[in-house]
Amino acid sequence: MTLGGDVIDLRSDTVTKPSEEMRRAIARAEVGDDVLDGDPTTRRLEARVAELLGHETALFFPTGTQANQVAIGLLARPGTEIVVEADAHLLHYEQHGAAAIWGVQLAAVPTPEGVLTPTLVREALRPKSPDLPETAAIAVENSHNAAGGRVMDMARMQSVRAVADDAGVPLLVDGARLWNAAAFLGVEPGRLATLGTLVMVSFSKGLGCPVGSCLVGPKTLLEAGVVLRRRLGGGMRQSGILAAACLYALDHHLPRIVEDHATARVLADALADHPNVTLVAPETNIVMLDLKQHRAGEALEVIRAAGVLLSKFGPSRLRAVTHMGVTGEEVACAAEHIARALA
Ligand SMILES: *Cc1c(COP(=O)(O)O)cnc(C)c1O
Repeated sequence: MTLGGDVIDLRSDTVTKPSEEMRRAIARAEVGDDVLDGDPTTRRLEARVAELLGHETALFFPTGTQANQVAIGLLARPGTEIVVEADAHLLHYEQHGAAAIWGVQLAAVPTPEGVLTPTLVREALRPKSPDLPETAAIAVENSHNAAGGRVMDMARMQSVRAVADDAGVPLLVDGARLWNAAAFLGVEPGRLATLGTLVMVSFSKGLGCPVGSCLVGPKTLLEAGVVLRRRLGGGMRQSGILAAACLYALDHHLPRIVEDHATARVLADALADHPNVTLVAPETNIVMLDLKQHRAGEALEVIRAAGVLLSKFGPSRLRAVTHMGVTGEEVACAAEHIARALA
C-alpha cells in the first residue's frame, strides 16, 4: 500500500467527503438570503433539528466552535465561569475564544475517564462570594472526544442536570457527537438533548457533511443568539446549500452511524492483545491507542508510511476515528499495518 489513492484515513470523522447523492441534494436546494428575509432550506433544517432534539428552536451555524461560542455568550457574563470536564473540547480548543470574546473563564474538573459525576460538578460550583467568580453554567461533552468517545449515560446526564437545576444554572451540552452517544445508548437523540438547556450538534463529524452545526434551546434565548451569531460573522446568505446536505445526512447517514461503532471495535479487537499497545474497548467511533514502547510522533510516521493516517493525541497516545468513508475491511487492514508498525 502506498500513500495516494488507497490511504486509510482515520485521523478524524471530519475527513469524509460528500457523496454524489449528497452533492445532488445540495445542487437541488431551494435557497434565499438568510440575512435578509430567510433561506427556506435552512428554516426546514432548523425546524427539523428542533423537533428531533425536543427543543423549541434551532439555529444553524457554520461550525460547532461558533455555535459553542454563541452558547457561552448567551449563558455567561464577563467574569463568570463555566464548569467543564478537564479534557473537554471546550477547554482544549475553545477556551481562548471564551476568554477573548466573552471574558468568560472555564473551571476544569479532572475526572479519571472523562465522565463528570454529580458530586464532582457540585464541588466545582462556587459559593456566593465577592472573592469568587460566579458559576454561570455547567457544560457536558457527550460523547467525549479526548476520553476516546466515552458516553455519558441517561442516568448520569439526569443527575448532572439535577445538580444544575439545584444550583439554578443552565446545562450546556457539547454534542458534536451526540448522535454517536444516542446510538450507543440505543435512545433517540432527543432523549439526551432535552436534558440540556442549550445543545450543540454537528453535521460535519459522523454525519458526513461538509460543514454545519446547530444550537438548540429556548426560543427567547436563541433570538438573542441570532444577534450574537451575526456579531461573530455567522450570518450566512444562501445557507440552504449547506443545510440541504444536513437534511440529507439526517435521512441517510444518521441511521447508519452505529456502523462506525462496529468498525471501531474491529480496530480495537485487532489490537487488543498487542504487546506494545494499551487500549480501552470503544463505546463509539473513537479508539485511543496508548503506546508502551513508542513515541506517538515517530509511530505516526511509520504507520503513515504504511498508508494509514492517525492523529497524535499526546506524547504516547494516538487516536483513530472511524467514519462513513472507511469500511470494516479497510479498518481491519489498517489494524494489521498498525500492529506491524508497533511490533
Ligand atoms: C469538533 C468539535 C467541536 C467543534 O466543531 P467545529 O465544527 O470543528 O468547529 C466542538 N466540540 C466537540 C466535542 C468536537 O468534537
